[in-house]
Amino acid sequence: MRIGILAIQGNFEAHAKAFAEAGAEACEARTQSDLDRADALVLPGGESTTMLKLLREEGLWEPLRRACAAKPVFATCAGAILLACEVSHPAQESLGLVDIGVERNAYGRQVHSTVARLATGEGAELEAVFIRAPVIRRLGAGVRVLARYQGDPVLVEQGHFLVATFHPELTPDRTLQKMFLEKAAHVAA
Ligand code: GLN
Repeated sequence: MRIGILAIQGNFEAHAKAFAEAGAEACEARTQSDLDRADALVLPGGESTTMLKLLREEGLWEPLRRACAAKPVFATCAGAILLACEVSHPAQESLGLVDIGVERNAYGRQVHSTVARLATGEGAELEAVFIRAPVIRRLGAGVRVLARYQGDPVLVEQGHFLVATFHPELTPDRTLQKMFLEKAAHVAA
């Protein structure tokens, strides 16, 4: 399974390392052919406004939309903002592929990151690092919540999309990478 990590801006190197640790072949994706060659994609955290601008400038916005519509995608933080149907605070264009509404920087300025323990069902716990994270304010009917923090959904799933508002690449636990690899294998089968 070849995982293409969108490497335009943001935390892509840590994702590549995390997926390699989880047993996948991780490749940085910067061009349309990189996107085409990947079996599944990761949209990392970073600064979504900058990513949007660079993707537009590189002519990658439409190729990315097509790739994300067709392949399993794991999106985190800014990546979640790129995929959402609605973005506020401030509003900006998005790919509109996951039926959620997100409010950017919704935990205040959050100069330092917050580390929280999330319950993920069946007694399992997950450590989550939030950095200037968005909050999911609206959930479409086809979106399933896998974990919440302070009552808000922070890990959700819709069809071939897995979306986290936190940074699973920054903690040593590889549970979510493995969960995504299983999901991607299932979608591909
Ligand atoms: N605040 C960033 C944005 O609005 C997201 C932060 C992150 O990805 N850690 O795009």
